[in-house]
This record gives sequence, structure tokens and C-alpha cells, in this order.
Amino acid sequence: MALGLVASVRAWLPIRSLGAVNVYVHPAGDGGVHLVDSGIYSARSIHDIVRGVRALGLDPRRVERIVATHFHVDHLTGAALIAEATGAEVLLGRRDLEVALAGGDPGEFIDAAIKLFVEHGMPRGEAEEIRGSHPALRAVEAYRALSRLDIKPLAEGDTVRLGETRYRVLEMPGHTPGHIILVAEEEAYAIVGDLILQGITPHVTLHNPQTDPLGDYLSSLERLAALNLKLALPGHREPIHEPASRAMEILRHHQERLEEIIRLLQARGPQTGYQVARQVRWRVRYKSWEEYPPPERFFAMGEALAHLRRLEATGRVEQVERSGATLWRAAG
Ligand SMILES: [Zn+2]
Repeated sequence: MALGLVASVRAWLPIRSLGAVNVYVHPAGDGGVHLVDSGIYSARSIHDIVRGVRALGLDPRRVERIVATHFHVDHLTGAALIAEATGAEVLLGRRDLEVALAGGDPGEFIDAAIKLFVEHGMPRGEAEEIRGSHPALRAVEAYRALSRLDIKPLAEGDTVRLGETRYRVLEMPGHTPGHIILVAEEEAYAIVGDLILQGITPHVTLHNPQTDPLGDYLSSLERLAALNLKLALPGHREPIHEPASRAMEILRHHQERLEEIIRLLQARGPQTGYQVARQVRWRVRYKSWEEYPPPERFFAMGEALAHLRRLEATGRVEQVERSGATLWRAAG
């Protein structure tokens, strides 16, 4: 896909439901190459980018700038390899930089998620199985390499030049705490990472119980819808020609899921997050929880907790402790 001064290259991913990540390539006037997102920390993914850049008549050794829309493995970790080979500068939303790279060892991130899931009722054995199969675990080396680089933080309102295009940075948290999008104001399009996708709803999880990522995400969707963009270039799948209506569709999907969870708590009484995760009718092809592969259980559990936290933040559910377990119940 080529849109004036930006083209996209599809880079392989080991995540079957996504297939590939879109890397947006901008030719800079002097033969340099600027990228948005960078594939996963894997030779196969990087090979796709090298071939794709070359097919556009550009020199992949001349990658000079990489902006990552968010810190997830499929968007950021390829930059560890590309930056090492080319000396390219790497830029990331300031909040994602703090959360994923400036804290403790990147491996601790997964430990914290596992601990939270166990507190919310997931059996320890199941949680450990998830740890072993989490895609971020395979990329811990890449996060370590990235934390040694001098990554530049991007903040709301910054402008960044990629090729011939000036983009405005907007902070759109939710999918990650520091997810950014890049708006080409004159051209009325934006590179949106995983803020909205066609056909699938971006994952929203709870890492830190003090935060309300789904609340952030719903606000970001409303904000995107109000931008009046003609086109959104997403991190996966095809370009989105009516970004506002897709954003509102995803918003309604979460509102329906919030209502489903409230009804479930009203009908069944207090439940752990794990019990909720098992009962929500996720749009998956598995008939029972036992059929879910471990990474899918990880997503379902994180998604259930994000929804419960949203309901708590809006006063509709509350947490209760019962014999050492954390349960959620409908308020009032
Ligand atoms: Zn992604």
C-alpha cells in the first residue's frame, strides 16, 4: 500500500490471530528511511522489513529513525535489531518508555502480571503455563537491549518529521499506558498503531490495579472519533477508511461487555476475576476454557480484569476479600 509519501510493509509475526504487523516506511529526501513500528525481535520479521524496504527502491541500511506507536513486542522489539545494525534513533511515547524500559528488569513485567492473575483467582499452575508461552518472554533480551539505548520520549503535541511528512503526536492510552498515534494534519490521515483495528478489537489488559486502562481506552476512542480523519493506518490488517465509525463500534463492543459482566455478577453473586474470565462470551472459537491455549487465557484474564476495574472506577462493582481471595460484586 502506498499513500503519497508513506508505504506499508508487512512483517511476519508468530502470533497467528494477527499474522503480520504493518511497518510504515517513509523515504527521506537524502536516501534515508524512516519507519513507524519495527516488527518483532526475530530474523524472519526483520527479513520481511529489509525486503519490503528494498522493494520500494530504498536502502534498508539507511534506516535513520524508528517511531514505535507502543511498547508491545510486535511494534517495538524489532527496533533492537534494526537500531543495532543501522544506528537509527528510536522514539517511543514517554509513558510507555517509563513503564516498559525505564523501570526494573523487563522480565519483571510478566512476573507482575502473573502475580495479579493469581491474586484474582487463577490457579498458580495455569498462571505458570502462561508465563512460559507469553510472547514478551521470548523478547526479554530485546527489551534489555532497548533499555540500554538512548530512546527519545514523545509527548502529546510534539511534532515529528518522517520523510516529507510532519506528524503531530497524540497520546492515546489504553492498549498500553503510553500508546501514541501520529496525525498528518494536512493530509487528514493518522498512523494509529493498535488504537483501532479492522475486524478485531485491540486487547486491553490490567497491569497496574491503581490504573483504569479501559477507561483510558474508551476516552481515546472518543477522541479519535472526534478528529475527523479520512483514513487510519493501523498496526495490523487493512487501512481503515472510516476511522470514527470503527472507533465507535469498538466503544459499543466494550459497553456491551461491561453490561454482560454486571449481569453475570448480579445473577451469580460475587466472583473472582478468573471466574468472570471463564464465563464471558469472548469472541473465540473455543468451546470451553480448557480448550483455550495459554496465551488466549492470558488475554481473557487481562481483559476481564480491565473491565472489572472500569466497573469499579465508575462505582458499579466493588472488591471484597473472602478467605484470602479477592472477589468482585455488583454494587448497591
Ligand atoms: Zn500489535
